[in-house]
Amino acid sequence: MDIVVSPHQMHEWIRNHPAQKSRGFVPTMGALHRGHEALLQQSRTENDQTVLSIFVNPTQFNVASDFENYPRNFDRDLAIAEHHGVDVVYLPSTDSMYSVDFHSYVEPSTASIPMEGANRPGHFRGVTTVVAKLFNATRPHRAYFGKKDFQQLAVIRQLVNELDYPIEIIGVDTVRESDGLALSSRNQRLSQQARNDASIIFSAMTSVQQLFQAGERATTLLIGQFHRHLEKSSLIELEYAEISDSSTLQPIQHIKHDAVLCVAAWYDDVRLIDNVELCPT
Ligand code: AMP
Repeated sequence: MDIVVSPHQMHEWIRNHPAQKSRGFVPTMGALHRGHEALLQQSRTENDQTVLSIFVNPTQFNVASDFENYPRNFDRDLAIAEHHGVDVVYLPSTDSMYSVDFHSYVEPSTASIPMEGANRPGHFRGVTTVVAKLFNATRPHRAYFGKKDFQQLAVIRQLVNELDYPIEIIGVDTVRESDGLALSSRNQRLSQQARNDASIIFSAMTSVQQLFQAGERATTLLIGQFHRHLEKSSLIELEYAEISDSSTLQPIQHIKHDAVLCVAAWYDDVRLIDNVELCPT
């Protein structure tokens, strides 16, 4: 397994290692867990070459302490990458990604406006910029993103469509703990009490899904169900719970097409996001 640490080195690696059929790309911020591993596995199955990037991207953090506290464990990450047969790990230094006078930001499209976009100003501009840079360096045929970050996936799909990247974007199902909590690098920062409580996010989303499956289509009533379920916890602080169209991410009143319930919540200073799809059959 090779390791390269700058865009220049990545270009050179690609030149020297042309893919036989296709190159799969899995972008991450490291602290790898089974969610990231699912992306790597799928890329390995569908491509003859897999590139993993690990880069804690400063421009997508709108709160400095969140960036500083973000878990980093490169040695363990490299062992996991090796285990999954990754061909090259792209580990660019911050200096090699952003010169001091860096200005060429990529503006995210409309899917970035609500929810995460409204609550984390600048976040998606950081995401689209870094993903464009990573795509340019790794030139993949397919790129793998988790549905865990559902809005991010929609924003990336718009980026690829509107900027004509010849890349197939693959959304991978969310990997969960046995009690339903979505795996996240941030989970390690939860207190024991918060960790025990946090499964309520999934059980509340499941209760919405049940109401939806029973025929309810009015989003205010479905969201009402989510709020009622969350009242069982005194620890969690909800930031938002919204139902929107699955591809545009714009809010809807009534579910007629595929929709998604997206949620952000806090336990002390740890912010968790999750979602569940609501698809009329
Ligand atoms: P991150 O390192 O948090 O930027 O995540 C890198 C990629 O892994 C993103 O595409 C995430 O959506 C995906 N990911 C994170 N957690 C999970 C999970 N629990 N299940 C599936 N994919 C995930």
